[in-house]
This record gives sequence, C-alpha cells and structure tokens, in this order.
Amino acid sequence: MKYYALAIDGPAGAGKSTVAKMLAARLHYTYIDTGAMYRATTYKALKLKVDITNPDSFQFLEDTEMTFVDGVLFMDGLDVTQKIRTNQVSNNVSIVASHIPVRNKLVEIQQSISHTTNVVMDGRDIGTVVLPHADLKIYMTATVEERARRRHEENLSIGIESNYESLMKEIQRRDKIDSSRAYNPLKQAQDAIYLDTSSLDIEEVADKIYLLFQLIIDRKDETHGTI
Ligand code: C5P
Repeated sequence: MKYYALAIDGPAGAGKSTVAKMLAARLHYTYIDTGAMYRATTYKALKLKVDITNPDSFQFLEDTEMTFVDGVLFMDGLDVTQKIRTNQVSNNVSIVASHIPVRNKLVEIQQSISHTTNVVMDGRDIGTVVLPHADLKIYMTATVEERARRRHEENLSIGIESNYESLMKEIQRRDKIDSSRAYNPLKQAQDAIYLDTSSLDIEEVADKIYLLFQLIIDRKDETHGTI
C-alpha cells in the first residue's frame, strides 16, 4: 500500500508546526513533529547526565520508545510536551541534533512511521533526507524577528516562561548550528516550494498548501487507478 507524505522544513518559528498540525487534521494524516524527537532526546540525555557533546553518549536511544498519539509525543510511555520546551532543552538541542548516531536513529524511526501511515512531517531534513520521495515538499521561512515573535506567543500560550530578546538570540544560534552542521544540515530540497511566511496569514498558507497537495494526490490516484 502506498502512503502519502507531505514534508515541511524550515528554521525555528517559521510556522511549520502550526501549518503541519492544521494540514494533518484536515487530511486525517498523522502529524510527526521531528523537532520534538530531538528535544526529547536532549531532555533524556540531560536527565541521565551524559556528556551531550560526545556522539557516543546516546546509546540509551536503543532502549527509548517514542510514539506519537494525535500529534503528541510520548517517550517511554509519558507525554513529554511540556518537559521538552524548557529553555535548557532549547539551548542544548542543536548540539545533540548534530551527532550522526542521534540523527541516524531518529531518521530510522521517522521513516518507519511513514511506511505505515500517511504523514505530515515537519523538521529540518525531511525533504532532503527523511522523505526524499515525499509527494509535496515545502520549505517555510520568515524573518528572524517574526519567528521570535511567533515562538514567544506560542510559549506564552502554553504557559512557558518566555523573553523575546533571548528567544531571538537562541533562534539565531540554533539556525546557525542547524544550517552549518556537517551531517544533514537544514537545507531547502531542490524540489521544495519556498514560502516566506513573514507577512502571510498562517491559515491562508495552510489553505494554499492543502489545495496544492490535494491536486497532487488526486492526480496520483487517477494515474494509479485508485479512483
Ligand atoms: O522544530 P524545533 O525548533 O522544535 O526543533 C528543535 C531542534 O531540533 C532544531 O533546532 C534542530 O537542532 C533539531 N532538528 C533537527 N532536525 C529535524 C528537526 C529538528 O536537527 N528534522
């Protein structure tokens, strides 16, 4: 059975997760927030007090269970939504995400999910590495000021302590590490659609992607004789 996939990449705060969640709900697809998986890995590493600068410190991932239920990540059976959004996790996640064994393990999980269900997946390397054959790839970005403003509001709305200035610095630092790391950096896939959402209404963005995606999969269904 062929499962469909919509890949959304881009830097922090570009609106990826908001749009991805809306689209997954509308399409009845599974939403996979891959950033949450890197964050959960960081949270567990900090809890276990391993040396997060050492790529060999992450063997614990072999015995770690990560599953998504209605877009919410459960690690080892626990909902980690709040725990992975702390400043401590945000400040360390890009270092953890730069390690090859971490990326290989998480990409393996992400790909295996895509083999069992239709997905909307967002992250940094979805169109380039995780789902190179995705049915549609979007690369979403916005100015750093707008991205910091969105993250700030998002944090406040879920009750997380937030400061606009320090968020801006954290985002800039993470963007730099994420796009300059040697292994699978943040990069626009050649066949991805580039979207600057700085002055766009996020709901309109979601509507446009939805229509485009429907066109693509309707055409594929016709070609493959499924309708
Ligand atoms: O999406 P979010 O901002 O929560 O991602 C947190 C961090 O996880 C990113 O800054 C990046 O270092 C890492 N990440 C990644 N590859 C992905 C998703 C996230 O390296 N596919």
